[in-house]
Amino acid sequence: MIITLKDGVPKKEVDIIINKIKKLKYIPHVSRGVDKTIIGVIGERAERYREMFESMEAVDHISEIEKPYKLASREFKKENTVIDLKGVKIGGQEIVVMAGPCAVESKETTLEIASFIKKLGVRILRGGAFKPRSSPYAFQGLGEKGLKILADAKKRTGLLLISEAMTPLEVWQVAKYCDIVQIGARNVQNYDLLKEAGKNRKPVLLKRGMATTIKELLLSAEYIMSQGNYNVILCERGIRTFEDSTRFTLDLNAVPVLKKLTHLPVVVDPSHGIGIREHVGTMAKAAVACGADGLIIEVHPRPEEALSDGPQSLLPGQFEALMFELRRIARAVDRII
Ligand code: PEP
Ligand code: MN
Repeated sequence: MIITLKDGVPKKEVDIIINKIKKLKYIPHVSRGVDKTIIGVIGERAERYREMFESMEAVDHISEIEKPYKLASREFKKENTVIDLKGVKIGGQEIVVMAGPCAVESKETTLEIASFIKKLGVRILRGGAFKPRSSPYAFQGLGEKGLKILADAKKRTGLLLISEAMTPLEVWQVAKYCDIVQIGARNVQNYDLLKEAGKNRKPVLLKRGMATTIKELLLSAEYIMSQGNYNVILCERGIRTFEDSTRFTLDLNAVPVLKKLTHLPVVVDPSHGIGIREHVGTMAKAAVACGADGLIIEVHPRPEEALSDGPQSLLPGQFEALMFELRRIARAVDRII
């Protein structure tokens, strides 16, 4: 149930409604738009209070959102969500590039990549400390030690950080050091993890699973938002199809479709999406052309030595050339990088 308030309702009256909602044991989801303030009251049997809210003087009208995801929908919030991370705005005019190794492997490599991408104008460093690997025998990440290495890179370069959490406990560990908590493709429907990421207020980059529909992805975002964390960034990273010439099938259809259905920023990961170094740049450019708000790209100074995802990691020189080309595409679609 969505409560739309009358124009110019004083804050005191808004607070009365908010407190009423809390007393009924629902979370009030307040969205202050350019011309309207609306409050979402979402949860089991919330409609039974419809008449009560309807009769309040400050309330203009009550409506329902037909879509199963509510807070994530464009009906709930018309304006794009812009997540402001110390001046780096995700979802605005700038296309935000996040780059770095698949995994944090050592202090030296991480600092080497960080200072390199920083020089190219990248704003966010990526690197996994907790790695979801298909094989239990593969490198699992450095854990908290990896997060500390990232924090050191941040201190030296000023880059913001994104890293993955796989368990509810890791959400808090990652959030302690990083600016964005990544939830990976394999965990997109791990509902306890999503709820924990919602309780933690750090922005979340939520990756689409390899067999997740767009609707399911938005419902997973809704899990995070339902806890009061509205800073969710969606990420298309390829889905599994019958095609086996590429690692996954990067579903760029998802970008315009998501931008229509939701106000949340949409980022594309061409590295996992195609999985072949030679083609990562092409798909990154296509992502910018079709309206992505950001990119997350794997870069490694010596991919042949990488402990994970070497074959899809760009060499520094390739990444540098790509940044140049991406800026040209961005200009053509009225964006900046
Ligand atoms: C990653 O970003 O390194 C990663 C594991 O991604 P995904 O969850 O998309 O496979
Ligand atoms: Mn990877």
